[in-house]
Amino acid sequence: MVISSSGMKSHIGLVREENQDSAGIFPEGAEGTTMDSALVFAVADGMGGHRGGREASQIAIRVLGENFVPEPADGIPDRLRAAFEAANLAVRERGQTNPEFHGMGTTLTVMVFSGDTVCAGHVGDSRAYRISSDGIVQLTEDHSIVAEWLRKGWLTEEQARNHPERSLLYRALGVGSEISVDVYENITARPGDRFLVCTDGLTNHVTDEEMREIVMEEDAQEACERLVDLALERGGHDNITVQTIEIGPQQRG
Ligand code: CA
Repeated sequence: MVISSSGMKSHIGLVREENQDSAGIFPEGAEGTTMDSALVFAVADGMGGHRGGREASQIAIRVLGENFVPEPADGIPDRLRAAFEAANLAVRERGQTNPEFHGMGTTLTVMVFSGDTVCAGHVGDSRAYRISSDGIVQLTEDHSIVAEWLRKGWLTEEQARNHPERSLLYRALGVGSEISVDVYENITARPGDRFLVCTDGLTNHVTDEEMREIVMEEDAQEACERLVDLALERGGHDNITVQTIEIGPQQRG
């Protein structure tokens, strides 16, 4: 499997005073290039007032980058889980030892491409999607209370989208000493497929179908720009972060 291109964009939005989202592509400097080696894409959406959220999401991305190696492809789920645990403890430690950061936390959604393997690790309400000619599929499950109510059938999609409590999470990094990580193994990736990783600042304003159309129409970086622009046109109430990944044609053996 070859990643033919990738893109990334993070925007503070139109309302917030600070961008509490963080994002990374590892190894660093790999973004936008054609790669046939292993790559890691990660977004984090911090929470906690007055600089705490930004601190939490930055720590999560940094600790992930330092602790997770995407090669070899064997054993990625265990190593990914361990890196999430390291990030969880690092955020928690910083929050506990600094009164100004008390109570902070963050989401973390990661996609790993290594050899023929695609995996995802996830905590919180940021999202990973697979997009292909067949449609768009959300790979991750939101760990928000409103999403849980939606899964139980207590709310409609429309009610969930506009619910005032929709950003309340029941699972986030940095909140407890242990973290339960959703790890998705053996994700299908065919030549021409795209993947998208984003924070809720995008998905609160842009529908799945709009994401699919833009990602299939544009190259990876242009898709990120257009998606952010669309969220801004619709109010940009939150920080907006998006990454896109395009799988290239099959390599000749
Ligand atoms: Ca957010």
